[in-house]
Amino acid sequence: MSAHIGVTGLAVMGANLARNLARNGFTVALHNRSVGKTDTLLEKHGHEGDFVRTESLEELVNSLEKPRRVLIMVKAGKPVDSVIEQLEPLLEAGDIIIDAGNSHYEDTRRREAALAKKDLHFVGVGVSGGEEGALNGPSIMPGGSKESYEALGPLLEKISAKVDGEPCCAWVGTDGAGHFVKMVHNGIEYADMQVIGEAFDLLRSGAGIEPAEQSKIFTEWNKGELSSFLIEISAEVLGHVDAKTGKPFVDVVVDAAGQKGTGRWTVISALELGSPVSGIAESVFARALSSQADQRKLGQELLAGEEAAVEIPETFVEDVRQALYASKLVSYAQGLDMLTSAAKEYNWDLKLDEIASLWRAGCIIRAELLKDITKAYAADEKPANLLFAPAFTKAIADALPAWRRVVATAVQLGIPVPVFSSSLAYYDGLRRKRVAAALIQGQRDLFGAHTYGRVDAEGTFHTLWGEDKSEIEAVDTH
Ligand code: NAP
Repeated sequence: MSAHIGVTGLAVMGANLARNLARNGFTVALHNRSVGKTDTLLEKHGHEGDFVRTESLEELVNSLEKPRRVLIMVKAGKPVDSVIEQLEPLLEAGDIIIDAGNSHYEDTRRREAALAKKDLHFVGVGVSGGEEGALNGPSIMPGGSKESYEALGPLLEKISAKVDGEPCCAWVGTDGAGHFVKMVHNGIEYADMQVIGEAFDLLRSGAGIEPAEQSKIFTEWNKGELSSFLIEISAEVLGHVDAKTGKPFVDVVVDAAGQKGTGRWTVISALELGSPVSGIAESVFARALSSQADQRKLGQELLAGEEAAVEIPETFVEDVRQALYASKLVSYAQGLDMLTSAAKEYNWDLKLDEIASLWRAGCIIRAELLKDITKAYAADEKPANLLFAPAFTKAIADALPAWRRVVATAVQLGIPVPVFSSSLAYYDGLRRKRVAAALIQGQRDLFGAHTYGRVDAEGTFHTLWGEDKSEIEAVDTH
């Protein structure tokens, strides 16, 4: 029996993707470096569909129909290169290697270019949704050549999450585009989680609302415009009671957030692209600061708070909800704007409506909001920024008074809200007619003759600061 697809790397993610493929009627050839994982999968789940057991990559490749599709789901980094190296001599022109792990998009670009020279397709696929998604329907963001998608797309679409019967899987762009889009998805996820965390801290430390009560508030919020997987699970976590102590679960968890690196990758890439993803960056830094246990301990002893006595208004819970919504919108706007910058840099034809639609189900940031974002970018006139789409311009304007009140209150109470406040600063930075950059240009021209533009004339200018301070036209030295 020829298998439709081979999966190598059968730890939790690879095993679940293989089972998802088999449950959807595809014959799946299985391989793992150590054969134990293959046998465990077959023992526990062999009845779920048609599997072909193989013990070597050669056997795996020989069991596949052509063009061969080999999905790699091994540890990201060097192991992926090692598996590709072993597969390459076993494959023929037109065959497809798929990397569905969390690889860096630059690695994917490198691997794609190298394999294209050998007439092999290499497809970097962003997969979101964790273990559960991999098994029951993830959000899938494939890159690679359009041609390879013809042979691969139908399988991936079949196993992906669905919204009203539509698959949350579509070809997003060439070479590393799939992994790039997945990376930015994770960046938005960091910001989305942080804004929810900031809302929790404000309600707890500002208004004294206990976790159990907050769980009910979050459940209510989940019925409206904030409706999303992350709000839903936050309600569940907040309502959970620690069996050992009887305390709210969140009170017994160490407040040091971990990270596996995709948020950091997003920010590094944004810095290189000059893309202002301040909310995502603040959320990565907030996790880093939370984990500086020693310094935080000293900070608690040494640093003054000087918090003001602030009266918490009756509208506080609703104000926080609106501030959360506005900050979340900014995080999405920044992430999508980063995709626009990357599309220019890497020559990708990224369709933001399609990308937003891929995130509507299956992935961690799935949210009602994504339906409206999809609509905004599907319009004939694409907004230059999500916040300029009429529906969102209005939504954020409606939330603005509450957003300002909440940030001001947080500052007075000494409660850090880095994403609430940086998102508001981004919003004001976009909106204001004049920003502080004029003085910065003056400083740069004075210390480094970096030149400046004038509001009333074309061209580039330099002031002779060390001489008579007269102005000359200058060659732009940026
Ligand atoms: P993992 O722990 O990252 O990797 C373990 C697998 O890699 C095992 O099958 C292991 O084989 C294999 N492996 C490691 N080094 C190898 C090498 N040099 N040559 C061949 N095989 C090698 O597995 P995972 O947690 O299932 O994750 C797989 C991928 O999915 C990773 O890229 C991970 O970052 C990503 N991931 C994605 C999500 C998501 O939501 N999309 C969630 C979690 C993980 P042995 O059994 O022989 O050791």
